[in-house]
Amino acid sequence: IVELTDIKKQFGELEVLKGIDLVVNRGENVVLLGPSGSGKSTLLRTINLLEPPTSGSLLVDGEEYAAFWPPSKPSANRVLELRRKVGMVFQQFNLFPNMTALDNVALPLRSVRRLSKADARERAAVELKRVGLIERAGHYPAQLSGGQQQRVAIARALALDPQVLLFDEPTSALDPELVGEVLKTMRVVAESGMTMVVVTHEIGFAKEIGDVNVFMDQGRVVETGGREFYDECRTDRAREFIKAVR
Ligand code: ATP
Ligand code: MG
Repeated sequence: IVELTDIKKQFGELEVLKGIDLVVNRGENVVLLGPSGSGKSTLLRTINLLEPPTSGSLLVDGEEYAAFWPPSKPSANRVLELRRKVGMVFQQFNLFPNMTALDNVALPLRSVRRLSKADARERAAVELKRVGLIERAGHYPAQLSGGQQQRVAIARALALDPQVLLFDEPTSALDPELVGEVLKTMRVVAESGMTMVVVTHEIGFAKEIGDVNVFMDQGRVVETGGREFYDECRTDRAREFIKAVR
């Protein structure tokens, strides 16, 4: 459903992605691993054009979204279309502090999906139920724990019915005792058949959900493995990384 071919990204002189090839099939859970600075976040952000790649091809659902950057910029409509297909959950939740949990989930349903206020709130309630937070619908972010806020953020992303959901270290801003509830929610989403691309340092969780595991270093994919990846890495670099973080 997502196909990256020879994706490169430069920030000024610095080449952060040096030709990435990656295929994500429908229903698959892909885990991106690698040391700090290896380009994981940048790669994830190219998939929804938060970071337009410098060159290469980005196919999502059979449509090309990257060949526009350069020479010509994609129209805002194309970017919106892509973002309807590809949702994202951030490390820092990014909820609106002045809105209740319910309204945080309902807002993009109105602005992106063009639902009426009533329909948006009804759908938002369904999504909050799905992440186990319906009883907190009227709470503001400051009244929720970090884990609950992240689950609201997941509900907000799910509400838009994305074809692919991206997660960039969704638990690394959380106190350790709150990590489990977010991973549990993600597990439920994974098992519901959602296509996910997840950057995480939670190796136990990665091992559990990773159908495809991609180890990056210095802007390149060093190794890609299936379920066996965590027990039998082929490259020394991946093996050492796994040993160090596990
Ligand atoms: P981490 O595990 O620390 O999150 P990462 O694998 O996600 O690391 P990226 O955030 O993708 O790594 O960064 C890769 C490289 O790109 C780093 O050297 C970083 O400094 C650089 N970089 C990222 N974003 C920008 C930017 N907007 N401008 C300039 N350089 C950037
Ligand atoms: Mg990162």
